Amino acid sequence: MTSIGNAGEHGSEIDGDAKKYLIDGYLPTIGIECHVQLNTATKLFSSADNDARDAEPNSKVTEIDFALPGMLPVLNREAIRKAVRAGKALNSEIAHVSRFDRKHYFYPDLPKGYQISQMYQPLIIGGRVDLPSGEHVRIHHAHVEEDAGKLTHYSDHTLVDLNRAGTPLIEIVSEPDIHSGTMARAYAEELHLLMIYAGVTEGDLYNGNMRFDVNVSVAKPGEPLGTRAEMKNLNSFRAVEKATDYEIQRQIEVLKSGGEIKQQTRGWNEVEGKTVLQRTKENAEDYRYMPDADIPPVVLSNEKIAELQADFPIMPAEYRERFAKIGVDDSVVRVLLNNQKLAEAVAETQDMAGDKAAKRIANLFSSCLPSEDDTDQAKKALNLPSVEHLVELAKMLDEKKISSTNGKDVFAEMLKGDDLPIVIAKKKKLLQVSDSSAIEKMVDEVIAAPESAKAVADFKAGQEKVLGWLVGQVMKRSHGQANPGMAGEMLRQKLSTK
Ligand code: MN
Repeated sequence: MTSIGNAGEHGSEIDGDAKKYLIDGYLPTIGIECHVQLNTATKLFSSADNDARDAEPNSKVTEIDFALPGMLPVLNREAIRKAVRAGKALNSEIAHVSRFDRKHYFYPDLPKGYQISQMYQPLIIGGRVDLPSGEHVRIHHAHVEEDAGKLTHYSDHTLVDLNRAGTPLIEIVSEPDIHSGTMARAYAEELHLLMIYAGVTEGDLYNGNMRFDVNVSVAKPGEPLGTRAEMKNLNSFRAVEKATDYEIQRQIEVLKSGGEIKQQTRGWNEVEGKTVLQRTKENAEDYRYMPDADIPPVVLSNEKIAELQADFPIMPAEYRERFAKIGVDDSVVRVLLNNQKLAEAVAETQDMAGDKAAKRIANLFSSCLPSEDDTDQAKKALNLPSVEHLVELAKMLDEKKISSTNGKDVFAEMLKGDDLPIVIAKKKKLLQVSDSSAIEKMVDEVIAAPESAKAVADFKAGQEKVLGWLVGQVMKRSHGQANPGMAGEMLRQKLSTK
C-alpha cells in the first residue's frame, strides 16, 4: 500500500538548504517503502517454520498457509514483540490498539485471495531515522503484514512455492523527505543497520529479507509534488541509489522537453543501468480493504510496550558518537558498525581499558577484516576474540612488547581461534626483543660481519642513510623481533665512538 508522494497529502520536510538538492531547477522528492522480513521462528499466523532457506518448495507450509477451507490464523506474539522493538529503533510510537485488515487481490501466490495487513490502524506510528550526514527522514508509519508466496515462471508454465507465504513482515513507510540518490541509499543503509541492531531481521538483502520500493517525483520548488513513478522490490543499496538517480534524470528530461510524467511502476534493469516501464497506474487499485474477522485487535498498555522493548541494545548512532569522540576514523567506524558484534567489542574494550586501547582495536579490526563488500558468510565465519584478549593485545602494543606490524599478524591469528595473544606471539616468534644485552649482541655481530664493512665505513664517513640498512641486518638476525628503535640507537652510538 502506498500513499507517498501524492501531491499535498504529506508535505516534504527539507533538511538544510533545499538548493543543494536542486537539479536543473527541479527538486527531487523521494519516499521509500521497505518490507522487512522478521526473523521469528514461525510464521505470522501459522506454526510453519519461518526459515525456508534451502527447503524443498511447499515443505514449510500448514493448512493456514495453503488457505484450506476452515483454517484459522492465529497471531504470532513473537512477531508483534519484534515489530514493537523495530518501532523503538525507528523512534516511533506504538499504537495502544492496532488491527488487521484484509487486502484483496487475485494472484496465484496468494491462496486466500487476500493478504492480511494493517490498513487503518497500524502498530507503528510516526518516527524518524537520523542519517550519519546529519539529515533525517521522518517515518509515516509501519504496519505488520504477511508475505505472499513465490512464483517461478517457465516458458509454458509457472510453479508456485508457498514456503514464504505467511512470513511476517513490517512495511516501513517513510515521508517524502529524501531528495537524492545518495540520500536514498543512506536511508536504506541506516534502516538496514537499525533493523539488524534491533535484532528483528536477518537483514540478508540477497535473499530478499529487506526490499525497497522507491517513489520518485520531481517538481519546481514551491510547487505541488510532481507525479511519481515507483520502482518496486529493489534489493541492494546500489540499486536504490542508481535507480533513484536514473529516474530523477529521466523525469527532468521528460519535463524539460515539454512532456508529462505518468504515474507508473518501473523496474530497475541492473545490467543496462536504467529503469523500464512495467505498468501505468491510471487509478488507485481497489483492494476492498475490510477488517479481518479472524484476528482480534492487538491491545498494548504502556507497561506491556515497555516490557516488549526492554533490554534494548546500543544503536548505531550512539556508537558513531562514541567512536568519533575517541578519534576513530569515519571509514573505520563504518566497518565496525557493519558488524554489531565488532562495535560491541570495541565499546567493551573502551570500558575495560580506555580510549587508546579501544582505538587500537578499532583500527586492527578495520585493517584485518573482510571488507564490507565481502559476503555475509565471510562475516559470519569470523571468530570474535574475547574482550579480555583484545585488551591484552592492546596492552602488548602499548608496552611495545610487539611491533604494530606484528600486532596485525597476531590479531589476524586471533580471528581464527581465540588463543591468548601472548601465546600466539611466542609461537610465531613475534615478540619484540627489547632486552638491551640481546640487541647489543646482535648489533656487535652485524658491525663485525664482513658484508657490513662497506656500510660501516660509509656511515663513519657521514652517510646517515646507510643506518637503515644496518638496522635491517639486525632485524634479519632477530627474525623481525628486535626493537628497531633500540637497534638504531645502539648502532649509532657504537659507530660514532669507534
Ligand atoms: Mn506491503
